[in-house]
Amino acid sequence: MSKANIMGVNFDAVTLTQAADQAMEQIRAGRKGYVVTPNPEIVYQAMEDPDFQDLVNHASLVLADGIGVIYAAKILGKHLPGRVPGVDFAGLLMHRMAQEKMRLFLLGAKPGVAEMAAENLKKKYPGLVIAGTKDGYFKNDSEAVAAVNAAGGADVMFVCLGAPKQERFMSKHQKELNVTLCCGLGGSLDVFAGTVQRAPDIFIKLGLEWFYRLCKEPKRIGRMMKLPLFMLLVIRKKLFGGKES
Ligand code: UDP
Repeated sequence: MSKANIMGVNFDAVTLTQAADQAMEQIRAGRKGYVVTPNPEIVYQAMEDPDFQDLVNHASLVLADGIGVIYAAKILGKHLPGRVPGVDFAGLLMHRMAQEKMRLFLLGAKPGVAEMAAENLKKKYPGLVIAGTKDGYFKNDSEAVAAVNAAGGADVMFVCLGAPKQERFMSKHQKELNVTLCCGLGGSLDVFAGTVQRAPDIFIKLGLEWFYRLCKEPKRIGRMMKLPLFMLLVIRKKLFGGKES
């Protein structure tokens, strides 16, 4: 699979289906790794923090979550087939996992949310085995690692702690975790639990999901100001060149 370097982050040039195929192949082969889903905010964080950039680029799959990443690719003349939102990737992966009765552990979000998500997901994907759940507000990482391993491990774990916490957690603990593939998925457990709604399809099609989220949660404005800043840096790179990071 080819890669597209967008402002220092090496994205996989894959469609949603290719991403799920590649993940399933890795799980079946028992090859440990983690998936990241950077949006412009995460790429911006990676530009400012070389260690974080390094661990993002060491992921087995780097998926372009966010229309801003696709615009950046277009401006920089890099090929990316389109957005692969983390929550859509997770949906297709669970569909495939259910067919093979694979085990999924849910880590993250506020107390009670992962359990609600588990109930909904068991109904939506019959065959999927929920190995266990744990909220994302633990004091020590070791507590979370122990919970997953005590549950007998899993083929896949959704790690929903927000960035950069989830990426650092996956990279730091992948060896000791009895899990084949960890997926860093931000607020996805809130969506699966039904506590947060995704934007209506029309917003998604128009590339305005970010705008819908901003209207629903105006306090995100501070975080979202990184988006115009990111686009400005992309245009500056296009016009004046410079290093990749
Ligand atoms: N979260 C968590 N532990 C923390 C901080 C955040 O489990 O220490 C959860 C939070 O409850 C939310 C998710 O991480 O469910 C992050 O959501 P956000 O909307 O920030 O992620 P995005 O989808 O924007 O990346």
